[in-house]
Amino acid sequence: MSGLLDPIESRPIVAVANKPRYVDVSNPSLAVHCPNCGLITPRFLEYCVNDGYQLWPSPEVVSAAFKAWRDADPSRALVSRYDLELPPPSAEAEIDYSERAHQLGIHIFPNSNYPFIICIGFLFLGLAAIPFSGTTRIALLVIGGLIFLYGVVGWVLVEDVQLYQSSSGESSPEVHH
Ligand SMILES: [Zn+2]
Repeated sequence: MSGLLDPIESRPIVAVANKPRYVDVSNPSLAVHCPNCGLITPRFLEYCVNDGYQLWPSPEVVSAAFKAWRDADPSRALVSRYDLELPPPSAEAEIDYSERAHQLGIHIFPNSNYPFIICIGFLFLGLAAIPFSGTTRIALLVIGGLIFLYGVVGWVLVEDVQLYQSSSGESSPEVHH
């Protein structure tokens, strides 16, 4: 009857009930042709979604078959039984944003610890706002101001200029007359 169609797993599993290892885990397909209506249907649902034809003998068997199939390959870990195809492989998460920004001509600040120093400067400046005695406030103001300036100078004027020089390469060739 269904000789022209892809073999489905319902019959062998009926014969060897509750032995999900008979699922063909090497077959990556999530969809099968229903042997009754011939339309595509999710492979690991008990019934054909098109005409309700029973593809699997019981919910337990199809569930076990799905788990066996899914566990056979780590790339199937997030697959749903209702899917018809495997999700596309996730994009490579490791992107060199500095390189990418340089290609696009976007200026980004270098990775730096100086922003933390700037924040510490802010801390002292904030403490100077507390109404302590006059000398304490002035001392805190000076300390905070120095730390803050050190952070800003180090970040913006030193590191950023170094990055800019190293990434801009050679100067453009001079025009000879
Ligand atoms: Zn069907």
